[in-house]
Amino acid sequence: MRFRIKKCPKCGRYTLKEICPVCGEQTKSAHPPRFSPEDPYGEYRRKLKKELLGIGVEK
Ligand SMILES: [Zn+2]
Repeated sequence: MRFRIKKCPKCGRYTLKEICPVCGEQTKSAHPPRFSPEDPYGEYRRKLKKELLGIGVEK
């Protein structure tokens, strides 16, 4: 499953929304880099994906 991850240019929040849920700024495509061993955002992407799917998230 693929997600089009967007990022708020203002606060840096990652989201799938067109509008930042934090500050209301128009978001832009995050353009995640191709896979690399370092993949600094991999952990965050997995976490975001889990949240979006409602897996392992305490509410
Ligand atoms: Zn924002």
